[in-house]
This record gives sequence, structure tokens and C-alpha cells, in this order.
Amino acid sequence: MIREVSSKSVEGQFSLGVDLGGTNLRVAAYRSGKQVAELISLPTRLSQGRERVIRDLKDAVVALRSRFQQHGESVGIGVGSPGPLELPTGTIRNPPNLPGWDGFHLRGAIEEAIAEPIYLDSDANAAALAEFELGSAHSAGIHSLCMLTLGTGVGNGIILNDRIWHGNNGMAGEAGHLMVEPDGLACPCGGRGCVELYASATGVVRMAREVNDPTLTAALPADSARWTSHAVADAAVAGNAAAIAIFERVGRAVGIAFAGVANMLNLPLYVVAGGVSNAWELFAPAMFAEMRLRSYVYRPTAAAPGEPLDTPGKSFVRHAELGSDAGILGACLLPFTHDEEALGRTLTQSTQAS
Ligand SMILES: [Zn+2]
Repeated sequence: MIREVSSKSVEGQFSLGVDLGGTNLRVAAYRSGKQVAELISLPTRLSQGRERVIRDLKDAVVALRSRFQQHGESVGIGVGSPGPLELPTGTIRNPPNLPGWDGFHLRGAIEEAIAEPIYLDSDANAAALAEFELGSAHSAGIHSLCMLTLGTGVGNGIILNDRIWHGNNGMAGEAGHLMVEPDGLACPCGGRGCVELYASATGVVRMAREVNDPTLTAALPADSARWTSHAVADAAVAGNAAAIAIFERVGRAVGIAFAGVANMLNLPLYVVAGGVSNAWELFAPAMFAEMRLRSYVYRPTAAAPGEPLDTPGKSFVRHAELGSDAGILGACLLPFTHDEEALGRTLTQSTQAS
């Protein structure tokens, strides 16, 4: 566990983390604590093929590794990838953000390129791990959480009893595709009415187009291709009723999803992260209302506003403490917290924690 590693805090120990996104490829060197010591960010050159992307990744890893290894011991390399990701094989399954990568044996390709075993997990699991380890949950004695990351899509990571919950095939944590509208829109995952369609940045912009409200259109850029969830949020803050209603739908979708998770798992903490989560004041009232309405597990245990996280027996719903760096931080933490079972092998190297 990272906290054991941190308490020993070997001077000069470092890990490398890779955040493989559909738009950007970020590689970081990390030292214990909250510090990313150095970050390399480059575009993910998807159009030039998978081999090009893996080569770019390798070049960045090799450059950072050579710069840091003279200062201390490497704990390993963590990689966060868009999911769903089948573990232990490390095979990507139908990734919406990485077209053409379905069935790609990502772990094998990276390990072959950099000639070193990696700690691979989904980007949303990595982000949840970072929020869990580096946010205030841990110090408050909380051991489990569910995090929804409202970005281009809706990512999800579940921590149960201090560990990422991987499920049977490593594909757990897809609560972004929980159904919140049974007869809703078709989702690329094959389902209908998924949370992702109503609570992602993409969903917010789509809903703004759908309502086709002249006052909202007037408040947004003239070129509708430049509409963003951020601009819709600004319109809502300025009092635009159509924009306000859109964020109520966001809150409703997140609240219905969390109510289901609460009824199933009775967790102490639910976290909303990602760019859209910055509109917390706009969607949180609807989210809390749905959770109270639909979950008789959440309702009697709901923490009062401002109640401290270490209050026993309470259920908290919070805005994430880490910002857009959660994914890359989580990738850096994976080598410290690796789960031999999920990785499908036993690692015996001296870098193993505890
Ligand atoms: Zn879906």
C-alpha cells in the first residue's frame, strides 16, 4: 500500500506513470508525496497507428527513466489506459477513445517496447486510486469509495477495502454505463440511457443542442462547433433556465447511478470528478435529491453538509480534491499499490511494497 511506502518514504525512490489518453499521452516521474517531479505531455498520434503511439510512449519513458535513475531506485512503471481493459492479459476491449485498438494486447506491446514489466490499469481506476490515496479519504479512515469522472465520457473506479475492485476479468468499474433512462438514447456501449449520455461533457453539449433554446443559443459561441460544457455551465451560472435544466439532468443521472451503487455496496464515500464536476453547485442539489429519494441505504446515513469525513457510519458525496492530474498521479501510484491477483502474476522483485 502506498501509505506504507510513504511512511518509509525511501529518499530518492521514484516511479514512472503513463496516462494514455485518446488525445494526449502523458508520462510523469513521481516521488513519494504529492509531487510529480517531471511531466512529458505529447499528442497521442492515433492516426499514425498503434506502433507509433507505443514508440512515442517508450521514448518518453526511456528519457525520464534515464534522468531519474541516477537519483534513486525505480519502484516501477504504471500505465493508465482507456477501458474497458481485460486483466490479467492487458487486452483493450472496444475502447471508444482509441478507435482501432479493440483486442490490442497493450500490456505485451508496452512491456516488449520498454523491456520491463508494467503495472497496467484503466485510467478511471488509476484516477480513483489517486483520489483515494492522496485526497483526504485515507487520512479520515475511509477504506472504500466509488468515483465517477465526468469528462468526455464518464469513467468510474471503485475502491473496496483499500484496493481497486477489478471484478472477475479486470473490467469492473464501468458505472458510467449504468442505465438511468431505460428508453433513453442508444449508447456506443450497446446499452441505452447510460449515465455517460447525460453526465459527460459531450452529453451536456448534446443536450444544449437538443433543447434548441434561443436564449441558450444566444449565450453560447455563434459557431456551435465551439460549444463546450464549460460554456453551458457559464450560461447556467448567469441564470439561463435551459442551461440550469441541463445541469439538473446531469445531477439526476449521477444521483440515480450513485443511489444504485449505495443500495448495492453501502459505501462511505462517493466522489464526482472530471471537468463537468466543476459545475458542482449546478448539479449537486438534483444529485442529492435523487440519492435521498431512491436509496434507502443512503437516506438514513447521509452526512450533513460540512460534516467531517471521519464521522463514523456516515455516507459522504464529495467533489474530487485532485484536479485533472488525478489520472497521471494514479498511474504513478500503481507500482506502489499493485495487486498481484489483478496483474495475474506474482512479482518478487525488491521494489514490491511492504
Ligand atoms: Zn453505455
